[in-house]
Amino acid sequence: MEEFLLRLEPEKPPRAFLQSFEFSYLDPAEYAGFTIRESESRGGPTTLVLPDIATCPDCLADITDPANRRFGYPFTNCTNCGPRFTIIEGLPYDRASTSMRHFAMCAECRREYEDPLDRRFHAQPNACPECGPQVELWDESGTLRASRAAAIAAAADMLDAGKIVAVKGLGGFHLMVDARDEDAVVRMRLRKRREEKPFALMAPGIRCVEDLCVVDRLEERLLRSAEAPIVLLRKRPPELAGAQIAQSVCPGNPWLGFMLPSTPLHHLLMRRLGYPVVATSGNLSDEPICTDAREASHRLSGIADAYLVHNRPIVRHADDSIVRVLLGRELVLRRARGYAPLPVAVPAGIPDTLAMGGHLKSTVAISRGANIFISQHLGDLETEQSLQAFRHAVEDLKALYALEPTRVICDMHPDYVSTSEARATGLPLHAVQHHHAHIASCMAENGLEGPVLGVSWDGTGWGPDGTIWGGEFLLVDRAGYRRTAAFRAFSLPGGSAAVREPRRTALGLLYEGLGPALFEDPGLLPVCAFTERERSLIRQMLARGLNAPRTTSAGRLFDGVASILGLRQRCSFEGQAAMELEWTAGGRTDQPPYEVPLLPRENGCLVVDWVPLIARLIEDLRNGTSVPLLAARFHASMAESIVAVARAAGERRVALSGGCFQNALLTTLAVRRLEENGFLPYWHQRVPPNDGGISLGQIYAEVVLKGQLSAPYP
Ligand code: ZN
Ligand code: ZN
Ligand code: FE
Repeated sequence: MEEFLLRLEPEKPPRAFLQSFEFSYLDPAEYAGFTIRESESRGGPTTLVLPDIATCPDCLADITDPANRRFGYPFTNCTNCGPRFTIIEGLPYDRASTSMRHFAMCAECRREYEDPLDRRFHAQPNACPECGPQVELWDESGTLRASRAAAIAAAADMLDAGKIVAVKGLGGFHLMVDARDEDAVVRMRLRKRREEKPFALMAPGIRCVEDLCVVDRLEERLLRSAEAPIVLLRKRPPELAGAQIAQSVCPGNPWLGFMLPSTPLHHLLMRRLGYPVVATSGNLSDEPICTDAREASHRLSGIADAYLVHNRPIVRHADDSIVRVLLGRELVLRRARGYAPLPVAVPAGIPDTLAMGGHLKSTVAISRGANIFISQHLGDLETEQSLQAFRHAVEDLKALYALEPTRVICDMHPDYVSTSEARATGLPLHAVQHHHAHIASCMAENGLEGPVLGVSWDGTGWGPDGTIWGGEFLLVDRAGYRRTAAFRAFSLPGGSAAVREPRRTALGLLYEGLGPALFEDPGLLPVCAFTERERSLIRQMLARGLNAPRTTSAGRLFDGVASILGLRQRCSFEGQAAMELEWTAGGRTDQPPYEVPLLPRENGCLVVDWVPLIARLIEDLRNGTSVPLLAARFHASMAESIVAVARAAGERRVALSGGCFQNALLTTLAVRRLEENGFLPYWHQRVPPNDGGISLGQIYAEVVLKGQLSAPYP
């Protein structure tokens, strides 16, 4: 199957073009042979809005051929490539309902457009230097400095000189800077107020990527695909790398996120540069990506030294998508440009439903017939800007598909912005528990209708018992879910402060499992990370249960262990400590697990007890076992706890979802150990395991699986 996937593109008929290519591995359907059947017309015809498609080889040839009339023209496209999702104002997809309506085609472009034998027959964004959009270079104050080819050359000169250039692309602005120039990258971090979160890179071509990273065949296919996502790749050790990039691009990170140019503008710029650049979303940390040139020159002022802009309006924003290869399959971590808004197909026609998703890495979804359309990644709903983007996406999806949903689904969290937005629609309101939605999203893309044992591990989600859930084992079927097991609960001193400070979580774990005596133990790193006064305050919080919410969160457990092992006491972005724990384990899959016992049920729910595990970790740390080995043993123990619960639950099919399963080592170990023990594991492929999948899961859980709605959400 992997061979088929890799050979499809190189061996397809010469004129065939893959406009978009999504695949997922499903259970064998046991067909006896291979046939190509007549299409079954099921349900009414649905017009799909296509995602944006990376520049095709023919168009790339056009812009690099000095004899071609499109030589050096940054808006070249054809029916096989070019913008779609980010320029469409409404359906049907005609030039008049795209942002290309501002540009009247010249005679030559019109001839191509009307010639059925031409590659640009009915290519809606068709354009050339005579009639189409143009680029300009503005200085930091927004004053025009150069236009057309001279603008691209001037932008490249600035990048050569270590300047930060904001580049208007397909779905928004990138901030670019020479990735080899440490001073320039540090300047970008300071100006963008982004301390350590990794920056994505853009390379002029695949060779440049291979100089820096190990790239396998599937990863290369993904880099070169029409979706052109950011692909997470393993760094070559410095002595084996053919080139170097600045330390501050991804501090301490063994992975680099690389993409190849996906538009002619990016191809032209990158060819001129010939070296990799940082290409990060043009925004301040945590805000949605900028799309409008004038707006960008305000919002990015003080960050960018210049703006490479163009006059084709961006109708809707789309960040770069992020994927990684896991267990020989693609795993989408952020679903945006190139993927959105392709739907996930569901078995039967379902009523029009709107789902509002969660709070972080937010998306919304809307269903029509047998399709669930998921919006592009909208970001964390923490700022006014992101709330605007969220509202816009809801209205936009409704308008695009001319859909008037008759109901709306939200998370059970009463204080989520997405919940109050759902309420404000005035539609009948239903809620789906957060971890139930995670499992349902994994079931949706794997075509499962239940029953399954869902393993739903993430940082946080509202539990119906008033605690913060996050280490959940749920039996999910058509009737709903039953919580069959969960991690032993512990307290988070300081509540949300613990998310930023793994050392707080570590003290919560120690207090719960090993008693407050350890709070004075100078051999423990989280203990040393506080002053004595702070520790005594935290101890009081924990003893009295004040500002110390109870949680079963697996994400926090990973954080706490990272702190105990001395890897990180404070985070500058979500998930940082858990990521470092994964890196430290270095992909070791051969370490024996510690015992993670299951305690008798409380209210029908088995308790997965991590206390002996923490005790053994501390003991072995004191005995001098290396931290990388301990990190690997912790991962192995977590995977083993899944096998233990699966045995106890007696359910063969096990679905893994939640942000923790972005962790490649955890997912690899869990899948392997489940398979070795006769279980059938399922994991994510096309939809993120993180909260980007919640909106899909909400519709799948409530409408597809149940088929009847639960009581309205009060
Ligand atoms: Zn093309
Ligand atoms: Zn033209
Ligand atoms: Fe979640």
